[in-house]
Amino acid sequence: MADSVAQILDALALDDSALYDPEGRLAAADALRIETDTRRLAPNDLFVALRGERFDGHDYLQTAAERGAAGALVERRVASSLAQIVVADTRLALGLLARAHRLHWGGRLAAITGNSGKTTVRALCQSILSRHAPTLATRGNLNNDIGVPLTLLQLGDEHQLAVVELGANHSGEIAWTSALARPDVALINNVTDAHVGEFGGSAMIARAKAEILTGLAPDGVAVLNRHDRFYPDWCALARPHEVIDFALEAPARVQALDLHLSEGRYAFRLVLEGRDAGPITLPLLGRHNVLNALAAAGVAHALGCDSATIRSGLEQVTAVARRMLPLAGLRGSLLIDDSYNANPGAMRAALESLAEHRAPRWCLLGAMGELGDYAEAAHREVGEYAAALDIDAVVSVGNGAAALSYAAGERGHHFDDRDAALDFVRARLPAGATVLIKGSLSAGMDRLVEALRADT
Ligand code: ATP
Ligand code: MG
Repeated sequence: MADSVAQILDALALDDSALYDPEGRLAAADALRIETDTRRLAPNDLFVALRGERFDGHDYLQTAAERGAAGALVERRVASSLAQIVVADTRLALGLLARAHRLHWGGRLAAITGNSGKTTVRALCQSILSRHAPTLATRGNLNNDIGVPLTLLQLGDEHQLAVVELGANHSGEIAWTSALARPDVALINNVTDAHVGEFGGSAMIARAKAEILTGLAPDGVAVLNRHDRFYPDWCALARPHEVIDFALEAPARVQALDLHLSEGRYAFRLVLEGRDAGPITLPLLGRHNVLNALAAAGVAHALGCDSATIRSGLEQVTAVARRMLPLAGLRGSLLIDDSYNANPGAMRAALESLAEHRAPRWCLLGAMGELGDYAEAAHREVGEYAAALDIDAVVSVGNGAAALSYAAGERGHHFDDRDAALDFVRARLPAGATVLIKGSLSAGMDRLVEALRADT
């Protein structure tokens, strides 16, 4: 929801000359809902015409008019009877409208960034925070310079808290989305070498993630991962804001002690500010999810949640689909479906947790995308790591992943296509194995998961 047209012009620093409103429909509305997709337009909405790679919203003004839009936000006047507000850049204007709306909203907001685990931490935060107060959270993966504004525009009087995921495809993007979100709490979860091709090195990525701190509210709190090698840099950048740090088995304001596996699940004692907050068994697989849980506990703590709420929120989170999801597989196997995405750090984390599960252990790995010149070496390193962890079979699937299984030596098996890999697994998988399935989204490893489930 945005506001009246007068407030919209004000938020965009425009005067009436930017407004074409022949029937006075925009002027007559006291609250305009903003929509960027004509398929979701409702009568009296304001349609924002965005230019994408394949589509240009300016081509859809007639459709918007037919669906009853009150008007459109455009970059150039389009020949249409539909009322229009003309701006230099509709993408930036969408952000500014979202910012005005967020500043007007009276609740408190947490923003999350990092290479890996943003959506998982968001889900964990949502599970905790919504037990404390009505909470708005990012849906799906709407974390870029369009998704963040669209999320912020959903903030309503009914929400007291919000948790928003901020992602980046290029440097500067998080500085922008953080300025729009103006977080009261900002989490930098980690740097695990994702998108190296785009950013040119992990120090650059660390700097891009730290942009989240520039949008922090004056009395805002930074939540930081003590295990990350960039922790000291982020602490320095966070100054003079308060920092809440989290760590496994190490002194920190949020800690997990006595970490152990209990029937395949991680159990630990949560310690907040040096006080034992009780035992927790996490329903998500993978050691990295313990860190994600601590990150979420840090965010919730910063927003004033008590330890009982944090514990029940963490214990009752429902696993986020395709992220370390345990499933029954063929021949009594346990499939660990981590097919949502991959980068070198996430591959290592997932392999480490595979190594903690019942043998025999197999991994079916697709290519990691967006690695630029580093691609071949990155796949080789993952293959070597799998071999060092004593994973019994390292199966790579698809052209880009071949270096991975070659580096794993005798345990390695490479297949150019999914069907050939599937035939091999069906023929050779030992009974009762644990099978990790992972790769970048583009590798389509979820199709292997579906084919290997017990009931298929
Ligand atoms: P995206 O940038 O694609 O939105 P994301 O940051 O939202 O990703 P998630 O979707 O939560 O991350 O998790 C994606 C994958 O990253 C998981 O399946 C897991 O393999 C890995 N991962 C999650 N958390 C961590 C972590 N703390 N450390 C390392 N790897 C992690
Ligand atoms: Mg995500």
